[in-house]
Amino acid sequence: MAEILVLAEHDGETVKKVTCELLTLARRFGEPSVVWAGPGADGGRERLAEFGAGCVYVADGAEFGDYVVAPKAELLASLVAEKSPAAVLVASTAESREVAARLAVKTGSGLITDAVDLAEGLVAEQSIFGGAVIVQSKVKTGMPIVAVRPNAVAPEAAPGAAQLETVSVQVSDGAKTAHVTERVVQERGERPELTEASIVVSGGRGVGNAENFALIEKLADSLGAAVGASRAATDAGWYPHQFQVGQTGKTVSPQLYMAVGISGAIQHRAGMQTSKTIMVINKDAEAPIFELADFGVVGDLFQVVPQLTEQIEKRAQA
Ligand SMILES: Cc1cc2nc3c(=O)[nH]c(=O)nc-3n(C[C@H](O)[C@H](O)[C@H](O)COP(=O)(O)OP(=O)(O)OC[C@H]3O[C@@H](n4cnc5c(N)ncnc54)[C@H](O)[C@@H]3O)c2cc1C
Repeated sequence: MAEILVLAEHDGETVKKVTCELLTLARRFGEPSVVWAGPGADGGRERLAEFGAGCVYVADGAEFGDYVVAPKAELLASLVAEKSPAAVLVASTAESREVAARLAVKTGSGLITDAVDLAEGLVAEQSIFGGAVIVQSKVKTGMPIVAVRPNAVAPEAAPGAAQLETVSVQVSDGAKTAHVTERVVQERGERPELTEASIVVSGGRGVGNAENFALIEKLADSLGAAVGASRAATDAGWYPHQFQVGQTGKTVSPQLYMAVGISGAIQHRAGMQTSKTIMVINKDAEAPIFELADFGVVGDLFQVVPQLTEQIEKRAQA
């Protein structure tokens, strides 16, 4: 069976959900093997096995943490030369897209980014213009490299051996020109990570100011959800930019997405329209976001949200 290389996204201890999604996709086309750059593969192995990784190529040299993306591209290029995989899948995150672009140059291969699905023959599907157009494309030169958006597919477990195999690669001096000088761990508190959460509660301009975002946070906490925001809210400084959902923010695809005081501009939809269930709270019955809604409340969020939070908390205690 053809080998498909999957570049692991991890934090040195745990495997990110998107890696399980990539493994699920890779199993459609062959035997997935994971490429793990940096430390922590032992800790991640169990999860990789759960999602069908046959082999885990581990390169845990310090250079993968000390320098930016170039060493990872060299590691992948050397594995591609050695293993001749049928394809390489990476997550369509800022960092991995850059790794993929460098790999494409090194291997003379075509690259597709922001794929939301992969069909037979490694035909990638992309959703563009805020989801208004679906594009199907296929790499015709070299070995296909595809960067797949987080949350594009639901991860499905299927056991694999996840055999750890240490690999060594001679990282060139050219790959060591951009040095990481400091790492700051982002304080996230108790809430789940936005792109990994199964419930997301997002607030928009309707929330009115930064203080009122406490209402959104309280509702999110009652559900164990992540908090998101529209660009209008992040640009106004009411909520940090890293929580922006949309075309120029994060793409989320949770089981439940709640849009509170958000009108549903095409750029916002681009980041949340693949959510499984969408619930809207908006005082304007004509707001375009209602076109996407599975459930909607036409009402003032300052009345609806506190009552909703109270009812959810009561149920949780019952
Ligand atoms: C290149 C580009 C990229 C962009 N990228 C993004 C992106 O990534 N993400 C994004 O979100 N936007 C993005 N935008 C901006 C986007 O076009 C919209 O301006 C933005 O999404 C609007 O945010 P909003 O829905 O919160 O605000 P508005 O459109 O102003 O909507 C506010 C909504 O709140 C409702 N409301 C007001 N008060 C209440 C209340 N008390 N109770 C209930 N409802 C209330 C109103 O009825 C209204 O529907 C981008 C724009 C451009 C040009």
